[in-house]
Amino acid sequence: MNFDELNLAPAILRAVQEQGYTQPTPIQAQAIPVVLDGHDLLAGAQTGTGKTAGFTLPMLQLLSTRPAARPGAIRALVLTPTRELAAQVEESIRLYGKYLELTSTVIFGGVGMNPQINRIARGVDILVATPGRLLDLEGQNHIDLSHVEILVLDEADRMLDMGFIHDVKKVLALLPKNKQSLLFSATFSDEIRELAGNLLKTPKSVQV
Ligand code: AMP
Repeated sequence: MNFDELNLAPAILRAVQEQGYTQPTPIQAQAIPVVLDGHDLLAGAQTGTGKTAGFTLPMLQLLSTRPAARPGAIRALVLTPTRELAAQVEESIRLYGKYLELTSTVIFGGVGMNPQINRIARGVDILVATPGRLLDLEGQNHIDLSHVEILVLDEADRMLDMGFIHDVKKVLALLPKNKQSLLFSATFSDEIRELAGNLLKTPKSVQV
């Protein structure tokens, strides 16, 4: 399969081609059509499979082709277990979205809050976050998650292994009911299945 068979916008394809990618990886070939069709997704994929582009490319496409309900509001939230992964994911979003008008930022703990607060106050379409810092800033009323259209839980198994289950559940409770949710995990414990069962609505499953 070729990237141009995936119905991605020319602006996104151009950014992908600049990376030198010729073909979508298996997770991309399977996940991208499902997400573009608006389905919830349960994806089994390890790191290194190209999963980041697997959710980032269709997310960018969906956001760029429909109007924001409220300008400046956060439209997509990506939750990751670690600050390193959060930073990497946001870098990918910038890279693949370089020819789009969408904005993104990343927040995580262990660094000052003020630059993050100021950036969010200026308005951002896509927020990548670790759960603890997200809840801290939300608790201080710096973050409004009530207009989120797309949620991604990346490396959900690691998130639970690191003890973030309660934080993740608190974040989920802050999101609108009507949204598209994507859950990526390398492994599927009972706890992950329960989380997926509560979050995802008639999801499509893909596994690589
Ligand atoms: P990930 O699993 O998302 O961490 O991606 C692993 C690596 O694969 C990253 O360095 C990407 O830049 C690279 N990558 C992602 N998609 C493709 C593709 N379709 N072709 C070649 N490399 C890719």
